[in-house]
Amino acid sequence: MFPSMADSGGRTLGDEEIAAATRVLRSGMLSSVWGTEVRALEAEMATLHGVSHAVAASSGTAALHLAVAAAAPDPGDEIITTPISDFGTVAPILAQNAVPVFADVDPHTGNLDPDAVAKAIGPRTRAILAVHLFGAPAPVAQLRELADRHGLMLIEDCAQAWLTRCADGRLAGTTGSIGCFSLQQWKHITCGDGGLTITDDPELARRMRLFADKGWPRDVGRSHLSLGLNYRMTELSGAVARAQLAKLPGVLAARRRTATRLLDAIAGLPGLRAPDNPDSHAWWLFPLVLEAGGNREFAESLRADGIPARAGYLQEPLHCAPALVDAPIYGTSRFPLTVPPADRLPEYGPGTCPVAERLVRDTLVVIDWNERYTDEHVDTIATALRRAR
Ligand SMILES: *Cc1c(COP(=O)(O)O)cnc(C)c1O
Repeated sequence: MFPSMADSGGRTLGDEEIAAATRVLRSGMLSSVWGTEVRALEAEMATLHGVSHAVAASSGTAALHLAVAAAAPDPGDEIITTPISDFGTVAPILAQNAVPVFADVDPHTGNLDPDAVAKAIGPRTRAILAVHLFGAPAPVAQLRELADRHGLMLIEDCAQAWLTRCADGRLAGTTGSIGCFSLQQWKHITCGDGGLTITDDPELARRMRLFADKGWPRDVGRSHLSLGLNYRMTELSGAVARAQLAKLPGVLAARRRTATRLLDAIAGLPGLRAPDNPDSHAWWLFPLVLEAGGNREFAESLRADGIPARAGYLQEPLHCAPALVDAPIYGTSRFPLTVPPADRLPEYGPGTCPVAERLVRDTLVVIDWNERYTDEHVDTIATALRRAR
């Protein structure tokens, strides 16, 4: 049996989290508006990343919504992002009445290809939203240069990339203007559901804090300065997240150690590509790319050997998701996708991001990864990989 992020044997929830939840319950204060836990979590998150501000939210999607709202696109403005991610990357763009524009990805990492991003930039582009897929560092230094050249904001989705190290040595989330993280059940650390944003820009931090709390500046009075929702994290979640944040370095060290062991074990296998940067990767999942395709059969063979593996990660890349291709978005309307002029209407569906489509359909296999894997788990996976090819 492989430990999983869905059971206690594959989580790091222990006495520290129990003490944290109990401390909050005994205090009688469960709301972060008046409590101390979420404010402390934000301070610890900012310190960990060497930035001046962190703002908590109720989910990773909410954190991304804070970031997109802070970028302040006008209705119909475009935000360039990746077709291989969680839908939580895209939903906030639509929710702010902006248009997601998908750029194609690198065939080996599945991360945004900077050349494809450069080609997708147009007169109404407002931001680039990059994802560090599976914990592999996205090329954020290049994307930042591109963003600066065109006056765009760079937002990093680090939901799968806790403590990922980018090529220039910076932590994921600190190259863009805002980094967004998730504390959902299946992420490296969890409080059930929760999110965090980090930034060095006080104005962006202020906008995000207002957006998470109904536009209400709590230190001023009962006034509403700007449109905002209620995306507040509770004190219970914040206290558990603080205990989890303290365990993050251990989680990453364990995942990196066992991932390195698997990389060594499969080093000679032809036709199989794995990440080559085990100490900067966060190993949310262990991705493999089959140069010759056949990912369904390959994953099936691994599953027959009891390995928690899946083909493609997604059923279809996000630019082919029914929600974008043909479903109504508001009421019966396809607004905001209908706002751009005819020559810049967004193009979704098969054929528009062929590299991402091939990854999902033919070449990508992901294996669940966990900090509780032992050498024996890794060796079992290595044996199954040798048999599957
Ligand atoms: C999980 C995830 C999200 C959304 O986070 P939630 O906490 O589930 O809302 C967004 N982007 C990526 C890349 C994710 O993996």
